[in-house]
Amino acid sequence: MKRIAAALFLILVVLVLIVTLRAALLKPPAISVPAFTPIALDDKGALQRFIGAIQIPTESQSGGERPNQAVMQKMREYLEQSFPKVHATMQREVLTDGALLFTWKGRDTSLKPAILMGHMDVVPVPAEALPLWKHPPYSGEVAEGFIWGRGTFDDKIHVLSLLEAAETLIARGFVPARTILFAFGDDEENGGKYGAQNIVKLLQQRNVQPEFVIDEGGAIVSGMIPGVTQPVALIGTAEKGYVDVVLSTVGKGGHSSAPPPHTAIGELSAALTKLEANQFPASLPATVRSQYDTLAPYLPFAKRLPLANLWLFQPLIVRLGLQNPLQAGSFRTTTAEDMFNAGFKENALPPSARAVINFRILPGETVSSVIDRVRSVVNDAGVTVSDANPGSSRNPSPASPIDSNGYRTLDTTIHQLFPNVIVIPNLLNAATDSSYYCVLTPNVYRFLAVDLDPSALELAHGLNERMAPEKYLKAVQFTAQLIENIH
Ligand SMILES: [Zn+2]
Repeated sequence: MKRIAAALFLILVVLVLIVTLRAALLKPPAISVPAFTPIALDDKGALQRFIGAIQIPTESQSGGERPNQAVMQKMREYLEQSFPKVHATMQREVLTDGALLFTWKGRDTSLKPAILMGHMDVVPVPAEALPLWKHPPYSGEVAEGFIWGRGTFDDKIHVLSLLEAAETLIARGFVPARTILFAFGDDEENGGKYGAQNIVKLLQQRNVQPEFVIDEGGAIVSGMIPGVTQPVALIGTAEKGYVDVVLSTVGKGGHSSAPPPHTAIGELSAALTKLEANQFPASLPATVRSQYDTLAPYLPFAKRLPLANLWLFQPLIVRLGLQNPLQAGSFRTTTAEDMFNAGFKENALPPSARAVINFRILPGETVSSVIDRVRSVVNDAGVTVSDANPGSSRNPSPASPIDSNGYRTLDTTIHQLFPNVIVIPNLLNAATDSSYYCVLTPNVYRFLAVDLDPSALELAHGLNERMAPEKYLKAVQFTAQLIENIH
C-alpha cells in the first residue's frame, strides 16, 4: 500500500513538473520584420475620397433582392473619377450584377495571383433609426474626431483603402511582384449571392487559383483577452456556419373548452425544451487550438499554464468556456430559439405553431448534420423540421493554415505598422463574402488594419458607425505596405 502511495505521489510530482516546465519554457518568438519607410500619402485628398464614398447610400437590398444598380452605377462612376491611375493601369470588369473585379498585372505572371477583397454595399439604415444617429449616416460629416457614416467601418474602408493605396503606389511607378486582383462585392450584407458568388464563378471558369485571399473579418483589439496587456491582431482563419431552422406543428383548432392533451403550442414547446436541454456536443476546433498555441507565450504564468498544456487541461478549458455565453460559441454549435408564433384568440385552440431557431455551426458539422440532429433530438413525427431560408444557410469554412505565404505576409505587415501587437488566428462568428473563395484556395484570411476598442465592434451594423480619420489613413498605409510585401 505504501509503495502504491509512493508511486502515485511520484507520478503526481512528475506531472506537476512537466506541466510547470512546459509553461515556464514557453517564450514569445523573437519578431524581426524588414525595416520599411512609411509610404507618403495625400492625407487630405485620401480623406475626401473616403468621405465621398460614404455619401453614396449603397444600401444592400433586403429579402434576397438584386443589388440596386442605379446607386451601384453611381459608386462605380465615383471610384472611376476618384482613382484615375487605378482605372488606367488595371483592367476593370463590371459583372452582370454590379460586382467589380480589378486585375493589376504583376511583374511575374507565372505566379499565382493574390486576391484582396472588400464590399461596396452597406447595411440599410431604417427610417425609424435615423433620428438616433448623431450625424446622418450618409453625411460623411467630420465631427468630434470622427468621420460619421454607414460604411466607415463595414466595409467601404476596405474598398477605399485598397484603391487609395494602389493609386499612391502606381503614382510611384510600383508594379506588384505577382498579379493582384481587387474583388468588390455589392451585396455582401445580403449574402453575396449576386456579387461574391458571381466573381468566384468567373474565376473558376478562368481556372484562377489564387495564392491567397484577404477580406474583412478581423481587426486589432485591446482589452478583450484577460491577462493580455498588448493589443491583439485577430486574423480570421475560419468562419462558423449558419442555419435558421423552422419547427412547426399543426393542431386541430376548435373551441378551447375541449382541448387535446397537447395543442400545437404544447407540442412545439416540448420540442423546443428538448433542444435547449440537449445542446450540441462541445469540442476544441483546430482554429481555436491554434489560437491558444499562438497566444499562450504572451500570457501571465497562471493563464499560460493551462494553455501550454492543452493535452491535460482541454476538457476543463472547454467546460469553463461553455459557461460564458461570449465564449461558448468557440466550442460548440450554438442554439438560439429566436422566434415563436402561435395562437390568435384566448378561447380558441391554435391551428398551428411555428418557431425559428438560429444555429451558428462549429467546424466539423454542416447545415445538414445540424438539421439531422435537430430531428433526432425532437424525435416527434408531429413536428416538421426544415431549413427556414436555404439561401442564407452556410457550412463552416475550412480552417486556413497559419504557415502560408498569405498569413505570413499579413503577419509581417501588421508587425511593421503596429509594432507591439500580438498576431493570432481567429474563428470568426460571422459570415463574410470570403467564404465563397474557399473553393479557389485553402488560404483565405480576414483582417482589417484598424485598432478597435471593444465598444466599436457594435458600430458595424448599428447606430453611429464612424471612423477616426487617422485610423483610416493608417489603414491605407497598411494596405500600401501589404501590397508592397506581397511576393
Ligand atoms: Zn462587411
